[in-house]
Amino acid sequence: MTDSVGPRRPQWDSETDVVVLGSGGAGLAAALTAAASGAAVAIYEKAATVGGTTAVSGGITWIPAHDRLAGADLSVEDALNYLEAQSLGAMDRELVETFVRTGPAMLNYLEQHSDLRFDIAEGFPDYKPELPGGRPGGGRSLAAAPFDLAKLGEWGARITAFPVDFSNVGIDAETKARIHATVDESLTEPCVAGTALIAGLLKGLLDRGVEPVTEARAVELLGSADGIVGVRINHDGKDIRVRARRAVILATGGFEWDPGLVDAYLRGPMRGAVSPPNNTGDGLRMAMAHGADLANMGEAWWVPIVQIPGDTLGGKPRSRSVRLERTRPRSIIVNRAGKRFLNEAGEYNSMAGPFHHLDPRAGYLNDPAWIVFDAQHLKRYGFLGIDPNGPAPEWFNESPTLEQLADKIGVDPAGLVGTVEAWNRNVEQEHDPDFGRGASAYDGYWGDPTAASPALQTLGPLDTAPFYAVPVAVGAMGTKGGPRTDRDGRVLHVSGKVIPGLFAAGNAMAGVTGKAYGGAGGTLGPAMTFGYRSGYAAATGESPA
Ligand SMILES: Cc1cc2nc3c(=O)[nH]c(=O)nc-3n(C[C@H](O)[C@H](O)[C@H](O)COP(=O)(O)OP(=O)(O)OC[C@H]3O[C@@H](n4cnc5c(N)ncnc54)[C@H](O)[C@@H]3O)c2cc1C
Repeated sequence: MTDSVGPRRPQWDSETDVVVLGSGGAGLAAALTAAASGAAVAIYEKAATVGGTTAVSGGITWIPAHDRLAGADLSVEDALNYLEAQSLGAMDRELVETFVRTGPAMLNYLEQHSDLRFDIAEGFPDYKPELPGGRPGGGRSLAAAPFDLAKLGEWGARITAFPVDFSNVGIDAETKARIHATVDESLTEPCVAGTALIAGLLKGLLDRGVEPVTEARAVELLGSADGIVGVRINHDGKDIRVRARRAVILATGGFEWDPGLVDAYLRGPMRGAVSPPNNTGDGLRMAMAHGADLANMGEAWWVPIVQIPGDTLGGKPRSRSVRLERTRPRSIIVNRAGKRFLNEAGEYNSMAGPFHHLDPRAGYLNDPAWIVFDAQHLKRYGFLGIDPNGPAPEWFNESPTLEQLADKIGVDPAGLVGTVEAWNRNVEQEHDPDFGRGASAYDGYWGDPTAASPALQTLGPLDTAPFYAVPVAVGAMGTKGGPRTDRDGRVLHVSGKVIPGLFAAGNAMAGVTGKAYGGAGGTLGPAMTFGYRSGYAAATGESPA
């Protein structure tokens, strides 16, 4: 067909039933479910590799009411009570119940249709295990079983990974060992954690003939009177228009790498993201352009971070989450007054509250803060990839006394000395009267496994010079806000009606658990559950059983 100025471009460059945008855990779960439900599926991924944040994660999935642990009695009621107890009224009860009830079916479905297998991550306590319905002995967190990358052929080298260096961020050797004490030696190219989760799902998709298209950034949702009917995608420097006969599923992650969106929406400072730098809120902006209603926009999956001077990833400042360093004995966190302000060994997500404490006159009192530790801490445990006994690098602030250390970092010397004296007296009694460090079953989990008592896994004096300080602030693993959805992930318009043809899952959707973080796997559990539900509904028009 021609018009007066030349040949007219066909309206569509390609078409399929279901278009999935993003290839993290939410996107691949959605794509696999849609494909296994009979739909033709295309996946478009902005990065050069697949897997997103999920691939560099621990790959732990929190499913609070499954029946895979004999005798555990993980009831729906307990799970709901537990999430409610920490949600501060902010969770969406209907969607949380949908998550809790659907989680087990999601596990079964993904295992049935892909090579992903889940093992119980034994003994991993819930994050607030002493709340009503909490599980101090764990059981709700599941790890992706080790996977043989050799099964993926050339795709084995196309899964997102952080550079291998001295960092313990992402998943360090100790964490991998805890998640999987043993890896079957018959595997040719074993991988674990988030890599194994993505690899297992990817194998299921490749076996169905669904190959993700990488370096393909979705830039616009294309609408008609019928709703969303396709996507404009930037691929190889060209725009292509892909028709979605049934639906488009947004699984583009959060907006933690877009400073404008972070400033506009998050409830307090977010000093650095520990995810790969592609999650810039593209799905959020695309959905907003079609009138999507938004929810949970102030929230993130918060985590304390350290930035090493000059350290970059993809040309941007790199942030490393700290977990072992703040949990093991002989280290504390103080603010500029030299005062402790939280339980350093608590779960990371809740730490945002104390970091965001806002004084009407003095501003954010606890941002930035400092991890202060002594020579014995460094000698016994190492610090952020520095080996035990290793020389202290230049980016540690080091001093022979606490007063000098405080002077060096601009902290009140009397405050710091007083805090450490009180701390040392209290830990002798195996007790932290100020913040209860060491009292929860969770606190010692990442502590010193050789300690004589649970409290001493995390409590220890700072009494051996030299003393060290490293700045610490609050960052995020991802954001939690986005388009509101119904139980099957259908995006809702500001009018309250469904936007036909548009779904969202994972960090691209409005997170259903509000402020809560149930336990290890608390982000991937809902992400893959709503990925599963949206993939099924996009393909069939119905809810899964
Ligand atoms: C070090 C680390 C460890 C973690 N460990 C755990 C854990 O063990 N358990 C847990 O539950 N959570 C964990 N998390 C958090 C968890 O990884 C994330 O919350 C989760 O992976 C989000 O999944 P997602 O599919 O929504 O997004 P992602 O996995 O981030 O995937 C989003 C994908 O969308 C792509 N994308 C973005 N924009 C576009 C666009 N315009 N077009 C096409 N593609 C686009 C991105 O490149 C990315 O690949 C961890 C996070 C980190 C950083």
